Amino acid sequence: MSDVGSTFIVAVASGKGGTGKTLVATNLAVALARDGRDVVLVDCDVEAPNDHLFFEMDAQHRAVMVPLAEVDEEACTACGACRDACAYGAIRILGGHTLVFPELCHGCGACVIACPIGAMGETRRRVGEVSWGPVRGLAAQDRLTLVSGTLDIGDVKAPDVIRAARSLAAGHACVVLDAPPGVSCAAVAAVKGAGLLLLVTEPTPFGLHDLELAARLGHELEVPMAVVLNRAGTGSVDIEAWCTREGIPLVARIPFMREVAEKYADACLVADEVPAVADAIAAMVALVAEREASV
Ligand code: SF4
Ligand code: SF4
Repeated sequence: MSDVGSTFIVAVASGKGGTGKTLVATNLAVALARDGRDVVLVDCDVEAPNDHLFFEMDAQHRAVMVPLAEVDEEACTACGACRDACAYGAIRILGGHTLVFPELCHGCGACVIACPIGAMGETRRRVGEVSWGPVRGLAAQDRLTLVSGTLDIGDVKAPDVIRAARSLAAGHACVVLDAPPGVSCAAVAAVKGAGLLLLVTEPTPFGLHDLELAARLGHELEVPMAVVLNRAGTGSVDIEAWCTREGIPLVARIPFMREVAEKYADACLVADEVPAVADAIAAMVALVAEREASV
């Protein structure tokens, strides 16, 4: 069951970048909206969000802020109590000065409680931005909202930006999450609570290796999975046999075609242009409908 009321959440993920995850997420979101759902597509690939390139929209923007411990240097006696209380190693006492490392601080507040003289407080710092708005250019009855999270350059708080982006999906009947590639904390933040995880892969040794990693994440988070095979017809690896062995359904194949690559590179919705891709996306919509009905 999803984590946003009765919302059904589909996460689209892959063990590595460049497998076709964004192609699947954007085209699936549009197809689900055309199938009558109130859909929000959340671009959780916050280090390199690009779902917005496929849509026209008037976006609103908001900074993502996180709590951060802050020392009053005038009052601080460098006693070390806050350092000892910090489970994340975010505080050091160096040369009689108490230093907080923002990248390590989780804003838990333990140091504020531990300080015996009230010299430790809390401030907020910006780590990224979320933008959101209804997609223009679809038929009047098709409801699709796009939410994008963008991590500030050099920051490491991707999960905070992803959580902020996901929170904007509340109230919509169907959420499609374009997860960051890999199996990092950011991928966990994106996939957690989904009702279905679509793993996009390709039939190569690299594709299989990263598929195995991504499937491990799905098992860990106890999210039902299905595989989408991109660039089908190339490569040397039998992904279908792997799916059979693992008991994970292979829901759709997107054939390797020059036309797919060209349309995608032009930021087109490929399913609108290439019938074979439309068929693959239709198979995913059918699976979503089946899973929605079972929760
Ligand atoms: S707020 Fe929590 S994580 Fe941050 S420095 Fe204080 S104790 Fe450490
Ligand atoms: S506990 Fe308070 S006084 Fe002690 S080092 Fe930390 S901020 Fe300074």
